[in-house]
Amino acid sequence: QTQLKTKSKHPYPDWKPKSPVPYAALCETFSLIEMTTKRLIIMEHCSLFLRQVMRLTPDDLLPTVLLMINKLAPDYAGIELGIGESLIMKAIGETTGRSLQVIKADQKEIGDLGLVAVKSRSTQPTMFKPKPLSVRGVHQGLMGIATVTGNGAQGRKVDGIKKLLSAADAHSTTKADITKDKGGPSEAKYIIRFLEGKLRLGLAERTVLVSLAQAIVCHEADQKGKIPSTTEMENGESILKTVYSELPSYDAIIPAVLEHGIMKLRESCKLRPGVPLKPMLAKPTKAITEVLDRFEGQKFTCEYKYDGERAQIHYVAKDAPQELSQETAGAAKAAADGVASIFSRNSEDLSRKYPDILAKLHTWVKDDTKSFVLDCETVAWDVTERKVLPFQQLMTRKKKDVKVEDVKVKVCVFAFDLLYLNGQPVVEKSLRERRELLHKSFTPTEGEFAFATCMDGQELDEIQLFLDESVKASCEGLMVKMLDGTESGYEPSKRSRNWLKVKKDYLLGLGDSLDLVVLGAYHGRGKRTSVYGAFLLACYNPATDTYETVCNIGTGFSEQVLEELHAQLSQIVIDRPKPFYQHSSGGQHQPDVWFEPRHIWEVKTADLTLSPRYKAGCKEGVDPAGQKGISLRFPRFIKIRDDKKPDEATSSRQVAEMYRKQESVTKNKGPSVDDDF
Ligand code: ATP
Repeated sequence: QTQLKTKSKHPYPDWKPKSPVPYAALCETFSLIEMTTKRLIIMEHCSLFLRQVMRLTPDDLLPTVLLMINKLAPDYAGIELGIGESLIMKAIGETTGRSLQVIKADQKEIGDLGLVAVKSRSTQPTMFKPKPLSVRGVHQGLMGIATVTGNGAQGRKVDGIKKLLSAADAHSTTKADITKDKGGPSEAKYIIRFLEGKLRLGLAERTVLVSLAQAIVCHEADQKGKIPSTTEMENGESILKTVYSELPSYDAIIPAVLEHGIMKLRESCKLRPGVPLKPMLAKPTKAITEVLDRFEGQKFTCEYKYDGERAQIHYVAKDAPQELSQETAGAAKAAADGVASIFSRNSEDLSRKYPDILAKLHTWVKDDTKSFVLDCETVAWDVTERKVLPFQQLMTRKKKDVKVEDVKVKVCVFAFDLLYLNGQPVVEKSLRERRELLHKSFTPTEGEFAFATCMDGQELDEIQLFLDESVKASCEGLMVKMLDGTESGYEPSKRSRNWLKVKKDYLLGLGDSLDLVVLGAYHGRGKRTSVYGAFLLACYNPATDTYETVCNIGTGFSEQVLEELHAQLSQIVIDRPKPFYQHSSGGQHQPDVWFEPRHIWEVKTADLTLSPRYKAGCKEGVDPAGQKGISLRFPRFIKIRDDKKPDEATSSRQVAEMYRKQESVTKNKGPSVDDDF
């Protein structure tokens, strides 16, 4: 921190005040970050660079931060990156005049397309020196690539990549400059990695947020000719963290902080309709007694845990135009009597999936409810039997461009929380107060809109009975939540101990399910010859930004599902595992095909064991020798989780926690066996 407060690095030679930030300067910082694993040093490089940007070219602060977090826009804008390997290889080949065959051979050997680009670029004769890339130019170029649609989109994407690649490393004077792959500041390498969706710098999004706060505080102090105190640094961090959790959009926050300063940020950047929050999540528990222990001496409440899809509904009534923000206007779909948006747990726009909700929304709203953000679960509804249907029914609904008149699977919205009401965020109020506001502001309509069934009894017997009722009502179990006091506030993006889930499965000893990334597959045999017969799955390690394998799975799939999975996955086959896949290297353990990391599946397991074949939790100290990873025994496929991104898979730490919890229960039962599908 002392360095950060006092040090002022010399700017990059091409970088004059108010001129565009050279992309090469950012890549230099990336390479410094890549060379260390120490979080404080990473943060320092990051902060120093951002501070430099604020001092010289504040207009470029937004694209700089976005390029650092490997994003082009906020999540809800729906701008997808993750360009497939084949397009990237084509573009590298065409830019550098090397054949696709040679590029593929290099990729097979090197295994990192970023480095393949560097190698190709260094062998390319340079006829003329293109203009060096700038941060804003790269951002715009990447945005063009990500958003191109329609006829010939693939070709235009390749053209966009070629344009960037041919200008990449234009500043480098020697061949040696651009071939320094280990940490070398090659622009081509980082452009390719950005396109693949993984910069692999070890730079977590959270670290960028904290570094940005530090840079802002230092910059504001610089302007006053002062050195910031530690308290000022801590306050700055805490403000930015809170603001970002309520309004996760750098597009909104960065212009505001540049205009008003960090101390006034909370006033200008509040939760608002149109910008989805990352939802609050719950911690698993194994028994009702565990819930009672956790909440001892404090008031809690139980709600049914509905088995559907999480939905965050944002609404502004027609007669409250003062509440329309840029984002609301941009993202919202017209709903009868106002504008509204529905976002998934992942901040994806679900409005085209649920036009039936948008059409009815205004009929559930009381007259004096002019704007709100609701947290709910949409659940498939049986109109004849007047009850909820299993999640599988909801899965059969089309995902996009649904027309109200074609809807076959009706949904009922079960509202369980209110985050914003009539122009004001209410996340800091207690759950009891939020619930009162929720119940006051809406009118339930059977089969369309209901409040989550709740029960405030505090006794074991009452809770057990309520759990049984929830299961009879086709729910997954209960959510138990802190009811009063500051701890019962809504905590965006947190898996909080103030929300506990009690699933019926845990009570049967099955434990929580896992959400795993599909990395590879094995060709089927016998009845499964034309499809994949089994799959290799992995959990995610956010500390190393890698996927660690955890099991092979071949159970729980119907023939129809296997066919669908084959059709879907065969589109994303890659020649060899990505460098960020961690799996045992033994030849006999390799899957027949590898995939891009795109899909998440929910999987149940009988228990967990240690195995030299898998890598999950290897770095979590579960095996004292550090050789074995955790693996799942008898894993069974439950469902596709397309509301989660690969980085939201169950983490290695969570897998390790599950293993440890189980170990302490099964101690003295003898060693577990290592087996497979
Ligand atoms: P899973 O849904 O598999 O349990 P998850 O990681 O998606 O895991 P959790 O925090 O574990 O999310 O569980 C909370 C989820 O349960 C919410 O995301 C929401 O979709 C759903 N849910 C159903 N009913 C409620 C409720 N009454 N309160 C809060 N969440 C509920």
